[in-house]
Amino acid sequence: MAILIDGKSISGKIRGEIAVEVKNLESQGIKPGLAVILVGDDPASKVYVSMKEKACHDVGIFSDEYKLPADTDEKQLLELIHRLNGKREIHGILVQLPLPKHINEAKIVEAISPEKDVDGFHPYNVGRLISGKPLFQPCTPYGIMVMLKESGIDLSGKEVVVVGRSNIVGKPVAFMCLKQNATVTLCHTKTRNLPEKIGMADILIAAVGKPEVIKGDWIKEGAVVIDVGVNRLDGGKLVGDVEFSVAQQRASYITPVPGGVGPMTITMLLHNTLQSAKRLIHRS
Ligand code: NAP
Repeated sequence: MAILIDGKSISGKIRGEIAVEVKNLESQGIKPGLAVILVGDDPASKVYVSMKEKACHDVGIFSDEYKLPADTDEKQLLELIHRLNGKREIHGILVQLPLPKHINEAKIVEAISPEKDVDGFHPYNVGRLISGKPLFQPCTPYGIMVMLKESGIDLSGKEVVVVGRSNIVGKPVAFMCLKQNATVTLCHTKTRNLPEKIGMADILIAAVGKPEVIKGDWIKEGAVVIDVGVNRLDGGKLVGDVEFSVAQQRASYITPVPGGVGPMTITMLLHNTLQSAKRLIHRS
């Protein structure tokens, strides 16, 4: 039976350490600040934004909130970002995605100063990640790497199979694993023989977004399983991308859904904001 990788407890420990560091900075007269911009009233985005605000509050980070109407135009949003880029009290800028259709998302992400891009989505930060010299690393994949490290799982020389090639999870986590000297296979909808590829994995990272699409008996005995998927079934139950009941009989370590990767994302956002504050302070 696999050992559960408890994202809640790892996340709690890291948030505790962040709160201590924030207090130390405050005693030097500095308060890390995160600007959070929400455009429109998408219900899921509203929930994520309020979770981020609460998390900031809990560790002592200043959260500067901008809730803009759905008809905000691109120019207004760009002006706000330019203002925040120059604001000394702000060390991180987060624009909650997705944006309303009339706004060009890429243009907005590229307007954020790479030095305040705590989501790690700016092409500059993507380039830094791929070249192995990351500045800000995107929060969900970064959280996965921290979970592996905290669980004492070494990636060097291991076969890592990532299923899903999105820009926010699959691709960045593949490059992070490569940096840790894993041999990485990146799978997607056009991959042939997916069960066979998964059967090779010492470490499987599933970021698909389809309930239990990865069957437990595809997994190699003793593999580590990281399930990023969050899928709500008709009855309301949350499940991952991996068939958990079978997978947990074969894996050595596995993340539950919920309570696995999920809690790590906001924690790494807090971490990135704190690191940004420390970096920008040293430069000023
Ligand atoms: P996404 O942008 O929809 O990408 C899904 C990827 O999975 C695509 O690359 C797609 O391949 C691939 N895929 C879909 N069906 C497949 C199949 N049957 N076999 C192989 N590959 C398949 O999703 P995402 O944004 O990366 O998110 C993935 C999941 O993680 C979602 O459940 C999301 O809710 C969750 N998530 C959780 C957190 C968190 O816990 N904090 C954060 C982010 C995302 P193609 O490229 O070929 O279409």
